[in-house]
Amino acid sequence: MKRFIVPIITLTLLAGCSGNINKNADTEKKYPPLDIKNMDPTVRPGDDFFTYANGNWLKNNPIPADKNARDAFDELFEKNRHDIKEIIEEAAATQGVQAGSNTEKIGTFFNSGMDSLSIEQKGTAPLKPFFDKIDAIRNISDIQSVVAFFQTYQISPFFYLFSNQDSKNSTSVIAQCYQSGTGLPERDYYFNTDEATKKIREKYLIHLTKMFELLNEDPSSAQKNANTIMRMETQLAKASFSNVENQDPQKTYNKVNLEGLSKLTPDINWRSYFTEVGYPGLSEINVFQPGFMKELGNMLKTVPVDDWKTFLRWHLINATAPFLSKAFVDQNFDFYNRTLRGQEKMEPRWKLVLDVTSNSLGEAIGQLYVNKYFPPVAKQRMTDLVLNLKKSLKLRIENLSWMGPETKKEALAKLEKMGVKVGYPDKWRDYSGLAVSSQSYVINVLNSNVFEFKYTMDKIGNPVDPTEWGMTPQTVNAYYNPNRNEIVFPAGILQPPFFNMDADDAINYGAIGMVIGHEMTHGFDNTGRQFDKDGNLRDWWTKEDSKAFEDHTAMLIDQYNHYEVLDSTFVNGKLTLGENIADLGGSTVAYNAYKLSLEGQETPKPIDGFTNFQRFFLSYAQIWRTNMRDEELRRRVKVDEHSPAKIRINGVVYNMPEFYDAFPDVKPENKLFRQVEQRPVIW
Ligand SMILES: [Zn+2]
Repeated sequence: MKRFIVPIITLTLLAGCSGNINKNADTEKKYPPLDIKNMDPTVRPGDDFFTYANGNWLKNNPIPADKNARDAFDELFEKNRHDIKEIIEEAAATQGVQAGSNTEKIGTFFNSGMDSLSIEQKGTAPLKPFFDKIDAIRNISDIQSVVAFFQTYQISPFFYLFSNQDSKNSTSVIAQCYQSGTGLPERDYYFNTDEATKKIREKYLIHLTKMFELLNEDPSSAQKNANTIMRMETQLAKASFSNVENQDPQKTYNKVNLEGLSKLTPDINWRSYFTEVGYPGLSEINVFQPGFMKELGNMLKTVPVDDWKTFLRWHLINATAPFLSKAFVDQNFDFYNRTLRGQEKMEPRWKLVLDVTSNSLGEAIGQLYVNKYFPPVAKQRMTDLVLNLKKSLKLRIENLSWMGPETKKEALAKLEKMGVKVGYPDKWRDYSGLAVSSQSYVINVLNSNVFEFKYTMDKIGNPVDPTEWGMTPQTVNAYYNPNRNEIVFPAGILQPPFFNMDADDAINYGAIGMVIGHEMTHGFDNTGRQFDKDGNLRDWWTKEDSKAFEDHTAMLIDQYNHYEVLDSTFVNGKLTLGENIADLGGSTVAYNAYKLSLEGQETPKPIDGFTNFQRFFLSYAQIWRTNMRDEELRRRVKVDEHSPAKIRINGVVYNMPEFYDAFPDVKPENKLFRQVEQRPVIW
């Protein structure tokens, strides 16, 4: 899914779902708390805990041809798709629906995407007004006007424009500007010289050529255009921040006023740009990557106008291809899914259209979704769990040996103030301003983008809405937002195997407990720790404690840098640091919360021959069961701040003294045993 790629500064549990098949998930059937048949007893827990817990599942669950991975998240994602399908079908079948109501919009949007006959007949005709604008460009000022016009549709050939809280003044919402303009997933793809990346660049050039041919250009000019795009994108990529730099909240905080912006890029007329996107009064903007903006300005002066026109045509078609006729959809799939992710064939149309509908009418569908599928009792149980986790993290902080009392006081205040949202928002979004018609799928998608752009930009200058959510209720994921100091758990993830109302506590603490602890720990990872209890970027650490934190995290960076996931492809310890801290902290805090919950109670009896503490770790390892294609793994290592699933288990458990207590047979002679002095203690 290449839409709504507006970056938000939240720290999530995983990198966006890609969907995985689960043959007609049966919602009535009880989900087994822990499936010991999934384990591989021939592997010793000290040699490779991930495979010990999941080996048989890995063998018996090959990746379907229309997926790039198969895992527990995607199984749940797939179950959710079936649940949402019921909602959409009910909406579409409801008699006497009021025109303009959410129900009508859901049905109409979905049907417009399923009407492949009409989509085929129209071809690129719905985009004619957009192409006409590009054709009419004569000079730099015209280029800017067209980019501004595109921006309102969230097509961002230059940069993303959106709003967020001012990181140094979290009560104020300001405009934000973030590098864009490239079609490959990350800047490294333009420069790395390994064989796999070189091959991807070759295939990208072929893809660009084919897309221009689909726009009725002859092969030689299509090829020439492809080379132009590659050259321009490479120039932009060179000036872009790397993904590690983009994680740095200080480096990406560059608030300027209109004068400051004009100084950075004198060749963009910002006053008229902001007027053309509909926000003439914008006076303050945070520029994430100033060097990128500077280079963009230089390129405006030096790159011929005709090349810019080619560039805009490419970005228009790249943003809309998934919603056009079959030739565009197939070619887009061929590069972005087959080449980059190893996916063999496309998912059925209804699933893709359903995902887009569920994105575009997120809370309208979410409202129906929670009414139908989210039991109120789940919210209560989840809230209790979060409180226990908070207690556990509080104790951990109080007893940390590497942190002094001054910093502890601030850390505890931050934890105390951390907000929690569970299930769904208290206040639902109003979709009355969203135009949906049966005329054109791609125009519905673009109108939804206009609606989202206005939604984000209208927040500027207004008070922060405390009820707002950054994910829809049906999402199978969770996040921490440092600007708000809050953790958020959508209803979508509060289901088995993450949250199982029928399972014993050891299982739930190992699964959803770990998820809660993970998000909480994000408030204190290498990025989160730079924000205070009120969501402001402010250093509340003593010098000594900052240094101690850096020393401990350096061990973790080094540890993860050594994990080789494919030949000569290693985990990036710096890129994944925040997530690795959250995984280690999350598991530790969840384990200790579970232990606290047992106080004054009889120790639970072993089940299937495993003690309750062993079941905690097995539950944790089983929720990360994953089979992934090599191509997708290679892509993730470059772009994803999360470590690969196997490392998310094996990188964590051998750092935990609690693991050695639970599995006393794990000894120094085992392959992954870590000596006490090798184990970082962070949270
Ligand atoms: Zn995370």
